[in-house]
Amino acid sequence: MALERAAIPRRGRGLEGARATLRSPSALLDAGVIEADRLPALERVAAEFAVAVTPGLAELIDPADPADPIARQFVPDERELEISAEEQADPIGDEAFSPLKGIVHRYPDRVLLKPAHVCPVYCRFCFRREVVGPGGDALDAAELDAAIGYIRDHAEIWEVILTGGDPLMLAPRRLAAIVEALSAIEHVAVIRLHSRVPVVDPARITAELLAALDTEKALYVVLHSNHAREMTPAAAAACRSIVRAGIPMLGQTVLLKGVNDDAAVLTELFRMLVAHRIKPYYLHHADLARGTGHFRTSIEAGQALMRALRGRVSGLCQPTYVLDIPGGHGKVPIGPDYLAEAGMVEDYRGGTHAYPPKAET
Ligand SMILES: *Cc1c(COP(=O)(O)O)cnc(C)c1O
Repeated sequence: MALERAAIPRRGRGLEGARATLRSPSALLDAGVIEADRLPALERVAAEFAVAVTPGLAELIDPADPADPIARQFVPDERELEISAEEQADPIGDEAFSPLKGIVHRYPDRVLLKPAHVCPVYCRFCFRREVVGPGGDALDAAELDAAIGYIRDHAEIWEVILTGGDPLMLAPRRLAAIVEALSAIEHVAVIRLHSRVPVVDPARITAELLAALDTEKALYVVLHSNHAREMTPAAAAACRSIVRAGIPMLGQTVLLKGVNDDAAVLTELFRMLVAHRIKPYYLHHADLARGTGHFRTSIEAGQALMRALRGRVSGLCQPTYVLDIPGGHGKVPIGPDYLAEAGMVEDYRGGTHAYPPKAET
């Protein structure tokens, strides 16, 4: 299948010809994304947490807008050096549930498999920011064999979730080998990949990559996207080619202050996803990762946003709002909930109504 390619919109700020990913504050300065006076502080942030902004994303940033939602997600910020007491290096407790390198087995029927340690971009709010990055620790061939062996040896594993690091950063040949090995395990019914690549580096979604994902098993791609502006024409073409390859797509979003903590922004985002045949799956409450306090909202604010959407926006556009409980206790839906007091249910406008208890039979 030929991949449709659409041009990434250009804003002409001297980036033409400079198509490399921006990997340092000085590269961001040269590209006109940051001002020179921020350089020393941002160098300190970059020493702590990896930086990468793809050229397509850099061109989406409006440097005249100090509150630009794309810049806020990817351009390092001085506030990342402010670490609060409740923040943790491993905020959702991956480590405690890792029986061997590259596997996290928290729930009985599914595991995470983390074959890659790099991402196309480094989100400033990432909950794995301590472990992903160019200096990270990928699985070597023997470690990958051992991880796949663990899945083979545990018949209760029904689903394997490739995450990381971004699994679509793997070379198609390596990805094909992993998909093939997992597909050969009888008890594995579903393979799920969580990725940001289709929106942040759509040129990676090639016919060769799609061929690597071709399997008899059910394979899903879950796209991580936090703002409607991320869906450039090139990103839309990449998503379309994934769906046309027979791969269902779901969306996951992190609720982020100053990026999408607004009912109109979330409505536009979830409608954009559904209009691209991507079903919003989870809205994640931002995790307690180190140096990310400026991104977190309260849970009450997240519930109010979900309430604002319910009933006013298509049910297809409603993700489940979830919290990953620190310590590795798993994800739970955190509302809002519409059962008022006993026997009463609330409608989306806030009116309450009696609902009869189940009659004795
Ligand atoms: C998030 C997560 C999953 C997937 O959870 P779903 O609710 O099935 O999307 C599985 N394992 C671990 C360790 C996770 O953190």
